[in-house]
Parts: sequence; structure tokens; C-alpha cells
Amino acid sequence: MTSPRVIVVGAGPVGCVASAVLAAGGIDVTLLEAAPQLPRELRASTFHPATLDLLEPFAVVDELLRRGLMAPIFAYRDRRQGVVAEFDLGALTDVTNHPYRLQCEQFKLCEIMLDIFGRQRRVTVRFGAEVDAASVVLASGERLEADAVVAADGAASAVRKSLDLAFDGMTYEDRYLVLSTPFDMAARLDRLAAVNYISDPDEWLVLLRTAGLWRALFPVGEGESDDQALSDRSAQRRLAGIVADHEPFEVAHRTIYRVHQRVAERLVLMGDAAHINNPLGGMGMNGGIHDAVLLGASMAAVLRGDMGADRLAHHAELRRRLAIDYVRRHTHENAESLAAPDGAARQRALDRMAARAADPAEARAYMLQASMINAVTAMRDELDEVGVSVRSVDRNTVSL
Ligand SMILES: Cc1cc2nc3c(=O)[nH]c(=O)nc-3n(C[C@H](O)[C@H](O)[C@H](O)COP(=O)(O)OP(=O)(O)OC[C@H]3O[C@@H](n4cnc5c(N)ncnc54)[C@H](O)[C@@H]3O)c2cc1C
Repeated sequence: MTSPRVIVVGAGPVGCVASAVLAAGGIDVTLLEAAPQLPRELRASTFHPATLDLLEPFAVVDELLRRGLMAPIFAYRDRRQGVVAEFDLGALTDVTNHPYRLQCEQFKLCEIMLDIFGRQRRVTVRFGAEVDAASVVLASGERLEADAVVAADGAASAVRKSLDLAFDGMTYEDRYLVLSTPFDMAARLDRLAAVNYISDPDEWLVLLRTAGLWRALFPVGEGESDDQALSDRSAQRRLAGIVADHEPFEVAHRTIYRVHQRVAERLVLMGDAAHINNPLGGMGMNGGIHDAVLLGASMAAVLRGDMGADRLAHHAELRRRLAIDYVRRHTHENAESLAAPDGAARQRALDRMAARAADPAEARAYMLQASMINAVTAMRDELDEVGVSVRSVDRNTVSL
């Protein structure tokens, strides 16, 4: 008897994880990627504890840890006051096997997974295979047959567009400049954690360490064009605002990131194809991987005949609600706390964060939210239903 076949569109982190989950569920997968080879642009770099727990069955976590950097502490700072609040994820060992964030570029997860796919027969990968429509038609005109299609083709998803699904947004569109430098910021800034949210009345930023680089994310104002923000002048000015007397800085990467807080009308899609979030909580890729684990396992169960299609629809709706209620709210809150427009409001937000960090119960509650353990707990019963077991907290205690 032949196994069911699923076409997964897009070999980003979400498409790769969805392929691995489907293959583990006994489904043959054709993974189609438009690019001629794996895109290695600089994008997500933070894997949250809950995501690492979910990735464990796919034998990728050890290799990710080898290629990345463990960051148990994340901090809120003020440019002038220094450290305001520190959170140590080490306090969560009772609910996660990975009590740290892993700073590791997303393409490394894809590299590791593609390498695994190359050594087994369930997943066939085709590069240079751009899909035009959900039917699935390739840009070359070739038409492919499958029992189901997963659209993990990113924010500009051709599959979503071909289905004419709404992609409603909030009313704002933000831009961020991301700069990376090999300059050792930790040598110059006192108590610098690997993950720092830095508040400032003039220009707040997020400063993250990855293996070998420091990466800074700054807001771009309405009056500044993309070209101006990307210029050497802007890069040097912004980096000198972190460490004053060291110019010129070597800039390893620079990119503009546009944010639309959007969620697709129906989550028949996964990852950025379904929802794009503000990058401040580092939850876009993480939320997409959570989609891939729950919906990939659900789709496999339906195709094997172990579960009704109504359950897949229910699980997709749950993921949609989590994308709206959890990821969007958390990242939006984070943005507000860093960028409050008046000084008093900003100080109040920092004071709130300091009080939270000083109270072990409040700090724990906040870390359960920020580490996405609450997000996984909120879908624990549905994960159980499709045979995925995770460590989690009591679902009744989780407020989203
Ligand atoms: C600067 C920056 C920093 C970020 N930091 C974080 C972070 O720290 N943590 C976090 O969780 N998220 C972060 N994000 C968000 C994260 O990068 C995305 O949420 C993530 O890439 C989504 O993965 P995906 O697989 O859904 O889509 P993508 O990564 O966009 O992958 C989609 C894939 O589909 C392919 N494709 C597109 N169209 C087609 C087609 N028609 N046919 C076939 N293939 C196609 C593309 O080539 C691509 O390989 C960040 C984003 C940026 C830009």
C-alpha cells in the first residue's frame, strides 16, 4: 500500500519542521523550495525553551546547541541607568528541558534538517521549485499531485494569495534596522546579557549575541528612508550610541525588517504565511514551529485515518487564536514597554519590569510567558491527542 503524500511549500524553518513531523507520522513528503539553494539571510536567531522541547524528537537539538549559544539570562536595560531587570530562565528547570534561549540563526535549523532528509527516504526536497498556486502548479507549469498541501511559503505566500484568503492587519506598519557587528559589546558594557531589551527616550534597541556577532535592532523613524537607515553613516551613528568611543565599527550584516501585525483569516497555512509578528519577543519563527508541530502531526493523523478532519480544523483554529492572543499581544506589549513616548510612562514601564524581576513568583510568571512555555501548555491537550507529549505547567494556571 502506498503512503499518503503531502506537498510542503517552502523550506524555511516552518516547512522543514512540518516535513519532519509529517515524515515521523508515516507520511511521504515532497518539500518544494523556490530558491535554488537554502536561503541563508539573517533573520530569526532566538529559539525559546518551549520550541527546543518540541524539537527534541527530531534529533536536531544537540546539533543546534553545538552551532549556537545558550543564553539563560535576558535583561531589560536603560541606556543611561544600565541593567533594570534580569530574568534567569534557569529557574524553569521543572517545566522545560532547555532552561535558556538558544541564540542560533534559523537557517542552521534548516541546514541540519535538510541534511537529515538527505539520509532518509520519506522527504524528497526540490530546490528551484517555485509554486504558483495551492493546486500545486509550479512556476515552470508542472502540476503535482498530493493528498494534502502545507503552505509554509513565508509572508508573501503565493499559496495564500491563490486561495484568496484575507490577511487582515492592524493599522500600523513598523520598520526596523538590524545591524550585526563582530565588535565585542560585552567587553565594554557592564553586565551585558546575551539578550538585552534597551529602553531609551530617543532610540531604544534590542541587543542580542549570536555565535561570533552582536546583533542590534533599532526602530526606523517615519522621516528616514530605507536607504538612509541602511547607510554607513546611520550604522556608525547607531552603533556608536551603544559604545561611544569606538568608530568605525565593522558591520557584518544590515537589513530592514518590515512588520505588519497580521493574521490570516483561516489557518490552513503555517508560519509567516499565516501570521507575521513584531520581532521584539522573538516569536515569529518560534510560533511557526509550534504550528508545524501541532498541525503537521494532526495532518498526519487525518491522512492515516486515525483522526477526523474536524479535529485538524479545530487545531488550526487554536493555533490561529494563539497567534492572535499570545504572540501578537506579547510582542506588542514588548514594543510598548521599550518605546513609550513620554519619559514618565517609560520609567513606569521600567519600574514595573524591575519589580517583576525582583519578585520570584512574578518573575516566574513572566518567564513562563516569554519562554513560550505557556503557549505550548495552552495546546497541550491537542498535542497529546496527536501523540506529542511535552513538559508543561498546569493548563488551568495559564493566562494568555
Ligand atoms: C531581522 C529578523 C529577525 C527575526 N528574529 C526572530 C527571532 O529571533 N525569533 C523568531 O521566532 N522569529 C524572528 N523573526 C521572524 C522569523 O524570521 C520568521 O517568522 C520565520 O522566518 C518564518 O518562517 P517560515 O518558514 O514561515 O517562512 P520563511 O522563513 O520566510 O520561509 C519561507 C520559505 O518559502 C520559500 N518560498 C517562498 N515562496 C515560495 C513559493 N512560491 N514556492 C516555493 N517556495 C517558496 C522561501 O524561499 C523560503 O525559503 C525575525 C525576522 C527578521 C526579518
